[in-house]
Amino acid sequence: MFKPFSLISLCFVGLILSTQATAQWHQKSFEVMGTQAHVEFWLSEANKNTGLTQQQTADNLIIAVEQEMHRIDRLMSPYKADSELSKINQLAGKEAVVINQELFDLLLDSHKIAELTNGTFDITYASIGYQYDYRQGQKPAKPEINQALEAIDYRAVTLDKSQSSVRFKNQDVRIDLGGIAKGHAVKQCLAILQAAGIKHALVSAGGDTGLLGDRRGRPWFVGIKHPRAAEKTAVQLPLANESISTSGDYERYFIENGVRYHHIINPKTGDSARKVVSVSIIGKNSTYVDALSTAVFVKGLQQGMTLINQLPEYEAIIIDNQQTLHVSEGLQQD
Ligand code: ADP
Ligand code: MG
Repeated sequence: MFKPFSLISLCFVGLILSTQATAQWHQKSFEVMGTQAHVEFWLSEANKNTGLTQQQTADNLIIAVEQEMHRIDRLMSPYKADSELSKINQLAGKEAVVINQELFDLLLDSHKIAELTNGTFDITYASIGYQYDYRQGQKPAKPEINQALEAIDYRAVTLDKSQSSVRFKNQDVRIDLGGIAKGHAVKQCLAILQAAGIKHALVSAGGDTGLLGDRRGRPWFVGIKHPRAAEKTAVQLPLANESISTSGDYERYFIENGVRYHHIINPKTGDSARKVVSVSIIGKNSTYVDALSTAVFVKGLQQGMTLINQLPEYEAIIIDNQQTLHVSEGLQQD
């Protein structure tokens, strides 16, 4: 009686071991777009391409994700003189510039979100934004800000769909996609993984995270950083099949005379937004949650929550100046 039983259980152990050898989690962290990115996914046997080992398939997927993020960075970085974005900033004040379709579509999304958020998300913030250097502790003086304010207006960017071209109202206008490009990159990378048959994945770039499925029967846990204690987490959120983006005043900043100057700019004032300290937006569209977290940060608690409560597809978690946490209606328990 004993022997056959142990033989059978041995067979089961063998089966379990062989599944473990071919189906497992794969992950990598890397630097891109001036921040830390991470990819993590479950590769089951069903995803195995003919002729490749599971490890090779996983390695290729990780390379594809890394390359995609670097490709988007090369296209959209304001710091790379030869990026298409830099070309637009050099030329579009003088003439219409025909641009890459993907970039054009992201400019269209940026315009839509600017309209939706009443110009609190506005990529032309860069008309003054480029004069801030948070590492060096530099900010523009009042007269420079006042002069640039006229150029900060999303309506100063004309997009021509028939030509895929962009034109600025004048040579003072500049754009920067720092508030939306990482969300777009996360979306693109999730699409790559999904096309390869992956059902469970996490892709993040800085404060932007996108999720495919759950963590195999369990939710993913995505942390929101404590805004005033670098290594602490303020909340852990159980999520599946969602994207979440956090905008905080603690990522890039310097303090002068007790005032915090950081990388989220109120387009109406040309100064850093200071009504709240952290905003996270949850929703299906990685690109939109990225831009909306920046917009809600500028709007502050009241106006920001009002906007999100009007958008059924999005939820918000806002930490105010007193470090009190507020959640949108969809996250409140009855
Ligand atoms: P992070 O870049 O740290 O993920 P955000 O998603 O909040 O944070 O984006 C902040 C970035 O967005 C800034 O670094 C800047 O490039 C850009 N930005 C700042 N203010 C605005 C604004 N009002 N509208 C659009 N983009 C902005
Ligand atoms: Mg953002």
